[in-house]
Amino acid sequence: MRRVITKRELRAALVSSKGKRRVLVPTMGALHAGHAELLRRARDLAGEDGYVVVSIFLNPVQFDNASDLDTYPQHREDDAQLCEDCGTDVLFTPTAQEMYCPDRSMVVEETQLSQTLCGAKRPGHFAGVCLVVAKLFNMVQPTDAVFGKKDFQQLAILRRMVRDLDYPITLHGVPTVRESNGLAISSRNERLSPEQRTLAPGLYAALQQGAASYAAGQSVRETLAEVEKLVQAIPGTRIDYVEMVHAGTLQPLGAEVRQEKPALLAAAVWFGDVRLIDHVEIL
Ligand code: AMP
Repeated sequence: MRRVITKRELRAALVSSKGKRRVLVPTMGALHAGHAELLRRARDLAGEDGYVVVSIFLNPVQFDNASDLDTYPQHREDDAQLCEDCGTDVLFTPTAQEMYCPDRSMVVEETQLSQTLCGAKRPGHFAGVCLVVAKLFNMVQPTDAVFGKKDFQQLAILRRMVRDLDYPITLHGVPTVRESNGLAISSRNERLSPEQRTLAPGLYAALQQGAASYAAGQSVRETLAEVEKLVQAIPGTRIDYVEMVHAGTLQPLGAEVRQEKPALLAAAVWFGDVRLIDHVEIL
């Protein structure tokens, strides 16, 4: 595995992969079993001949909350080892200075899918994601890129970016990797206290219960009320949002709608000062 920091080193490391399949996995580091699944998928897609490129970049532009950025976990050496173990060819870990000119003035903004869910709660977040992913696409020029469905809205927005900006790149979505208790694995889980960690699986359990009730004919209004009640019963939590949207357009479903599919029941919940997101698709 080659480790590169600058764009120039990255270009040099990619010369010999010209014409071959090149699969990009963008991450923010603190890699875990969810990321490992993405890296394995990337290796499969690339085959023996192709190249897997992993980027680790804690993108300041997508953080709407300074303390979330400051406390975001970082484990550079463990991350590099995991990449190596999963068959990565090139690991790109640029600095913020390398990525951004101080007077940068371009934006890449999606204007429909980003209006609900996390997009409504985290101003500028998805514009920051689109900007950094567009830059990585331009730098790496991958044939394919792999993202987690855990960040469902992010993946939908990036698919729209690829379609609307004509990137010749195939995106692949990997199902959410969970702990055996159902908790979606996330770098931010590290910041939970031991007690919060035992409570956090309750979020997925609440969403599953709501999804089952909706599938059985309950209305959107009743489903949201049910999930909110279940989450509120978890000590020390504060709901950021619980929403039901159409899984394709991400537009909210009307309160009295029943059994409209595909639907997405999604939530963001604070456990103390750690914000966790999760969702269930109802197909
Ligand atoms: P992050 O480092 O949080 O920006 O995540 C990098 C990529 O890994 C994104 O495409 C995420 O959706 C994906 N990812 C993070 N956690 C998981 C998980 N538990 N299961 C599947 N994919 C994940």
